[in-house]
Amino acid sequence: MSTVSPLLAVDSLVRHFRIGGGKLFARPAVVRAVDGVSFTVGPSETLGLVGESGCGKTTVGRLVLGLDQPTHGCVTLGAQPLNDLAPAAWRALRRDAQMVFQDPLGALDPRMPVGRQIAEPLEIHGITGGGERAERAREMLAAVGLSPDLAARYPHELSGGQQQRVVIARALILKPRFVVCDEPVSALDVSVQAQVVNLLARMQREFQVAYLFISHDLKIVRHISHRVAVMYLGQIVESAPREELFERPLHPYTQALIAAVPVPDPTVKRKRLVLHGEPPSPVHPPPGCRFHTRCPLAEVRCRSEAPVLRTVASGHQVSCHLVTGPGASEPEITRCSS
Ligand code: SF4
Repeated sequence: MSTVSPLLAVDSLVRHFRIGGGKLFARPAVVRAVDGVSFTVGPSETLGLVGESGCGKTTVGRLVLGLDQPTHGCVTLGAQPLNDLAPAAWRALRRDAQMVFQDPLGALDPRMPVGRQIAEPLEIHGITGGGERAERAREMLAAVGLSPDLAARYPHELSGGQQQRVVIARALILKPRFVVCDEPVSALDVSVQAQVVNLLARMQREFQVAYLFISHDLKIVRHISHRVAVMYLGQIVESAPREELFERPLHPYTQALIAAVPVPDPTVKRKRLVLHGEPPSPVHPPPGCRFHTRCPLAEVRCRSEAPVLRTVASGHQVSCHLVTGPGASEPEITRCSS
């Protein structure tokens, strides 16, 4: 386990949303989008956050950047607790913490040339004069693999891959220490996804930036992450160093996600745990283990007793009643298809 102090520390983060209740006598419901999530991200490290759509991973990304406020829990960046920061303090913090969104066209201003958009953070933070800002924007365009001559173009004149490179250039021009990448390639053509992921990895080496990389695509997460955390219905159910998680997944949900990733070699045979049904509603999460309604290994106690996230190996944490202690082995899957 690394002894380096974490750059980002998330402790017991909870975000509940109240919905409904507008009608007479109707009782408002509570959506438990994030329900007790804790993790750390080290300097220049990438933590992949994976899970099915609606598991709460994007909400976690928004909470750690102050785009939403937690119901409980705290986030610390460096030595700075982020809860209840004043707006001016948040503005100053934006130099250190940025976001790359899923939809690059939606993240860019359609009426502003991309060079000005890349330089805009320098202007907001009062860094350098206009001429030098323009020059820095051209340098960033070159750094992300685009021609500096594109500075005068508008977003609609660029391809999706070029737009996302512009978004990355804008996110990194202030040399932040931490960036949340929320599904940064899922809106792009498959042919350019690898290029943009490789660009993010190269920029991490050049800028020593840490990423929280949110994605549902396990192949991409495996490629770019140092560690991976798996979320299910608002909670982390397993986290481990990348190779440990992909080679020795211990939670049945992680095993099912990994088993669903296509393998290009048809001669490779592996255990296949098939998940049936959709995740339950976060308005009414199941009691006990939240995964028990879909888990092929569920026991009676899983319906009433919630497992805790416990360390089973160095840096490897799992929440499952069947995975008990140091050196724990993979739970035996007896009801699987091949
Ligand atoms: Fe499955 Fe029970 Fe483990 Fe939950 S605690 S993952 S239901 S075996």
